[in-house]
Amino acid sequence: MPQYFQPEIETASRDEIIRIQNEKIVKQVRHVYDNVAYYRDLMDKKGVKPEDIKGIEDIHKLPFLKKDDLRECYPYGLLATDLKDCVRIHSTSGTTGKRVVAFYTHHDIDLWEECCARAIVAAGGSNEDVVQVCYGYGLFTGGSGLDGGSHKLGCLTLPMSSGNTDRQIQFMMDLNATILCCTPSYAAFIAESLKERGYKPEDNKLKAGIFGAEPWTEEMRQQIEEGLGIKAYDIYGLTETSGPGVAFECSEQTGMHINEDHFYAEIIDPDTGEVLPEGEKGELVFTALDKEAFPLLRYRTRDICVLTRGKCSCGRTHVKMCKPMGRSDDMLIIRGVNVFPSQIETVLLNEGYSPNYMIYVDRKNNTDTLDIDVELSPERFSDNIADMQEMEKKLAAAMRTMLGIGPKIHLVPPKTIQRSEGKAVRVVDNRKLH
Ligand code: ADP
Ligand code: ZN
Repeated sequence: MPQYFQPEIETASRDEIIRIQNEKIVKQVRHVYDNVAYYRDLMDKKGVKPEDIKGIEDIHKLPFLKKDDLRECYPYGLLATDLKDCVRIHSTSGTTGKRVVAFYTHHDIDLWEECCARAIVAAGGSNEDVVQVCYGYGLFTGGSGLDGGSHKLGCLTLPMSSGNTDRQIQFMMDLNATILCCTPSYAAFIAESLKERGYKPEDNKLKAGIFGAEPWTEEMRQQIEEGLGIKAYDIYGLTETSGPGVAFECSEQTGMHINEDHFYAEIIDPDTGEVLPEGEKGELVFTALDKEAFPLLRYRTRDICVLTRGKCSCGRTHVKMCKPMGRSDDMLIIRGVNVFPSQIETVLLNEGYSPNYMIYVDRKNNTDTLDIDVELSPERFSDNIADMQEMEKKLAAAMRTMLGIGPKIHLVPPKTIQRSEGKAVRVVDNRKLH
């Protein structure tokens, strides 16, 4: 079984990676400056010329791009090639506002699929695998990205798209799928559905899952791994940089290797824009080093993350990013305390609850309120009100310890919280609606 899809790049020495990056950044800045008037203006305003960028260490001289710039430039303002050279468009899922569209040339699709093929190999895949892709197909990048990677590697690809869980399960069992690709919330739903139909984890042929596109916790990973009898690998990406596969997890499962020959990563202080040293937590910024059609330079992802460059047991040398802790704009400030939904998920799963929950934030009498609906499994459900109240109190206390503020917990009967087939929506902040 191959260990790497492209060993010479994935295990290249630090010097070699820097050499590749130096060469690519010089060309890329020139390409963008010559072809994207919007970014040329930003560079001119900052007083930076393409000749000032002599290597990757000069990247900090370049201006940032933000999501607002992308919205302002919708649809063609950041296009760097002729439209006739583009072969595909994708769009963000619009989780946090107006959609953004991205363009791809043949070359761009090729490098993206290469990144996804690396991810599948890192999860133990080879051309002997049957890869079931149940990320959504269409404008969303998840389906096409993993599908393309699977083809490139020569796997037998099941292009299921998301939804129709009965059919997912039938095909998974009848066609002996060995690798499952979807959002972690949908993987949890598939595991639950298999159990309901009387299947045990050992009844399926799955060995690995490649799950991403939304934040998920270590506790959720453990639950999915047990429920499906697999190893669950994280994958990260965003439409603006091509899609999934910008970074992927290896057998060590301690963070995702960033495909540094294509994407240069920085961590900055989100307030000041200052570049932070390795190991510090901040906002992740990406530069696409060799994309042609939509080559974003220093794009601020709003994802909060840490980069580490330690030696990895898998032999890959590319820098690793931790699981993003959620976007800076996912963070809830409740009564002055910073709360990430992922912290709530951690407590729930540690306390033995299901990953089916909804978080409601509101403001009543000038005070923020935090309510969490938590679905009970049939085994835990009871019609004894005193028992239920006791459980709610215990869970609220565990939340208070983790979050620093106490939520109101509402235990709800099994199957009353809607399951997600794509990116899960678990937070409703009613303060924004007032
Ligand atoms: P949208 O911004 O509309 O959700 P995308 O579909 O391009 O559009 O989503 C990209 C975002 O999804 C990333 O910026 C990140 O916040 C989130 N994401 C993707 N993969 C992961 C992952 N493995 N873990 C946590 N968050 C992820
Ligand atoms: Zn590794």
